[in-house]
Amino acid sequence: MTRPFHRRKALMTAASLAGLSALPGCAGARSRRHDLDADVRHLPVIRARNDRIDRITVCLRPFRAAGPRLEVEQVGRKSVVHNYGHGGSGWSLSWGTAKLAVERAAISPGQKIGVIGCGAIGLTTAIVAQQAGAQVTIYAQETPPFVRSARASGSWTPSSRIVKTSNLTPEFAARWEQMARYSFSCYQNLQGLPGNPIEWDTFYGLKSRDARPTPPDPIGFAELGDRIRDIEPQGNRVPVHDARLPYCEVLKQPNLIFNVTTYADYLMRQFFERGGKIRTMTLHHPSELTALPDPVFINCTGYGARALWNDESIIPVRGQIAWLIPQPEALFSMEYENVYVVSRRDGIVVQWQGEDMGHGYNRTDETPNVDEARRGVSIINGLYKSMGYNV
Ligand SMILES: Cc1cc2nc3c(=O)[nH]c(=O)nc-3n(C[C@H](O)[C@H](O)[C@H](O)COP(=O)(O)OP(=O)(O)OC[C@H]3O[C@@H](n4cnc5c(N)ncnc54)[C@H](O)[C@@H]3O)c2cc1C
Repeated sequence: MTRPFHRRKALMTAASLAGLSALPGCAGARSRRHDLDADVRHLPVIRARNDRIDRITVCLRPFRAAGPRLEVEQVGRKSVVHNYGHGGSGWSLSWGTAKLAVERAAISPGQKIGVIGCGAIGLTTAIVAQQAGAQVTIYAQETPPFVRSARASGSWTPSSRIVKTSNLTPEFAARWEQMARYSFSCYQNLQGLPGNPIEWDTFYGLKSRDARPTPPDPIGFAELGDRIRDIEPQGNRVPVHDARLPYCEVLKQPNLIFNVTTYADYLMRQFFERGGKIRTMTLHHPSELTALPDPVFINCTGYGARALWNDESIIPVRGQIAWLIPQPEALFSMEYENVYVVSRRDGIVVQWQGEDMGHGYNRTDETPNVDEARRGVSIINGLYKSMGYNV
């Protein structure tokens, strides 16, 4: 029963430690006390220390300059609908791209469908195919938690490394918008489930006082976010006047989070409850599909499509995460000096994003880089140290 009091006391201590009493909304507390966004005193504390890193993971984003491949191809007498190449947006766009792929598969009730791949795209595609009446078998080399999707930051990023500006067509932009809007609506229906696979947290974008101008993006990834501004909560920018703090502005906004461990488990259970089957196998050539019983396949092999389909249009974009021990008392996300942090229920993502957007582009190395992991953690450690915390 005493917990609320202690928590409040702890937060007040955090505020005074951080010297935030000079913030707008604190000094003029009487007139501003209902402006929740002006109050950034409640920045939770992440215990960013190297000895709290419990693993380092690396994932390759399957990027295609022209955007994901959603085409139908014949392999002998089998129809294959491709559904791969979702860059840094696979979880975010999964339901929308699944819907488009299943429409292209023109499923009739009771029809057998093979889905190749069991990551973010394969699992959602399999469930959408089941919803359309298909009997689905997933064929995959790996299942969660061993798929690349399991190593994602786990937030709503539908426009991350999805297409190059030079390849952007009005048709693709419209298709992307359709995928993003449909996925977003699905995620709103998945909140409040046991284990919270999907939930909103608060994102704090801390603008450093020493921030250098953002270097130009050397790759030319397109930014499509403006097309769906009406469905995304925008939040507020809060100026910070206390010169003792290392940041001068905070963007505070709601952030949609995927707790990937629980979410993948939820998707697997949904798939099995609808009668789905999984066969663990590695395909070495598309012609091997002719030996499988299903007449129609949906190919959701992500980066694996590069080798399997000999598709060199897939460019790997390497991304690494240092995972800190979870802190359920501090669930939120933030960005500071190019380090993205998502404190999820299943682990705290600390991702140093490199000097510019080209970081990781065309890099196939999936070996963890310990120095890079520690660099991100030490930047966040330094942030809290400058606020008076010994984390
Ligand atoms: C560091 C990082 C952070 C990210 N953060 C986010 C985020 O916050 N939000 C977001 O939306 N996206 C994020 N992404 C992007 C996201 O992870 C990818 O878009 C997503 O993983 C792609 O999913 P997929 O299902 O296509 O591929 P995968 O997860 O790689 O799944 C491919 C499946 O195909 C199978 N397969 C492949 N080849 C074969 C074969 N030859 N035979 C049989 N089976 C095969 C695999 O075993 C696996 O089951 C992030 C990526 C990185 C690297």
